[in-house]
Amino acid sequence: MKPAPFDYARPADWPAALALLAEGARPVAGGQSLGPMLNLRLALPERVADLRHLPDYAGVAVQGDVVRIGAGTTHAAIEDGAVPGRLGEILAGVARRIAYRPVRNRGTIGGSFAHADPAADWCAVLPVLPGHAIALGPEGERRIPLAAFVLGVFETALRADELLRAVEVPVLPGAARFGHWKFCRKPGEFSKATACVLALPGAAPVAVLAALDTAPLVIPDASALLADPAAEAARLVAGLGLDDPWRAALARKALRHAAEATR
Ligand SMILES: Cc1cc2nc3c(=O)[nH]c(=O)nc-3n(C[C@H](O)[C@H](O)[C@H](O)COP(=O)(O)OP(=O)(O)OC[C@H]3O[C@@H](n4cnc5c(N)ncnc54)[C@H](O)[C@@H]3O)c2cc1C
Repeated sequence: MKPAPFDYARPADWPAALALLAEGARPVAGGQSLGPMLNLRLALPERVADLRHLPDYAGVAVQGDVVRIGAGTTHAAIEDGAVPGRLGEILAGVARRIAYRPVRNRGTIGGSFAHADPAADWCAVLPVLPGHAIALGPEGERRIPLAAFVLGVFETALRADELLRAVEVPVLPGAARFGHWKFCRKPGEFSKATACVLALPGAAPVAVLAALDTAPLVIPDASALLADPAAEAARLVAGLGLDDPWRAALARKALRHAAEATR
């Protein structure tokens, strides 16, 4: 199927992009989710605003003890090491398992997070990190904790007049431990259950369980999960009241494997 006709705009700066948004334009980043939605006519914008030419939209900068990842940074750039240090190692490992390379060449971290597909990899992993999503609106930048950004299925804390500009994460120490596990029926498919754990020195470990057709479940103190992965995974998943025993089993498995992989 072909998309319904729409106008195309290419804002050269952020104020122009926000002005287009205020006029009802739909932002497009890599187009890897919006493109299929246009083709299926699930989205029928009169105009799309292509964000890809905005200044500082893509790219990674270390500013003091914070790593700022532009919303337009592609999954492939992250896979290829654009993010330095221990954080980069963690994110590259996640990025290389998103879909397959042609999708990763175009899809962006910001487009994925803003889209908030419950099965998306960044929606499962970013909430475990101690950082912020940087929203830009008419009043300037607003910082939203990564754990509080995805509110529901295809729903985020971004306001209608805001764009996601960047993701900021503190530089992680080399001793940061991370575990990640996801289940896909075949390589390149969306996950059916994803879990991850981040353990920073001197802080309670944090875990996330995602890809369950809800907002990600953030477990702010996952000490019990690391101490006894099987028992605590069973307790946590029982509390979710999942109807489908197969999804519940996968969720338990994801949490247990992510905890056991945390190193
Ligand atoms: C075959 C296939 C397999 C895939 N498999 C996976 C997978 O396994 N795991 C996974 O995580 N993803 C997967 N994806 C999705 C892919 O990762 C997309 O890149 C991602 O979902 C959207 O990013 P994008 O940059 O393409 O955003 P777009 O498609 O351009 O936009 C997505 C949505 O976000 C909005 N948006 C984009 N940028 C911004 C912004 N800066 N501020 C506010 N709103 C914005 C758009 O208006 C749109 O509503 C797959 C996609 C395809 C086509």
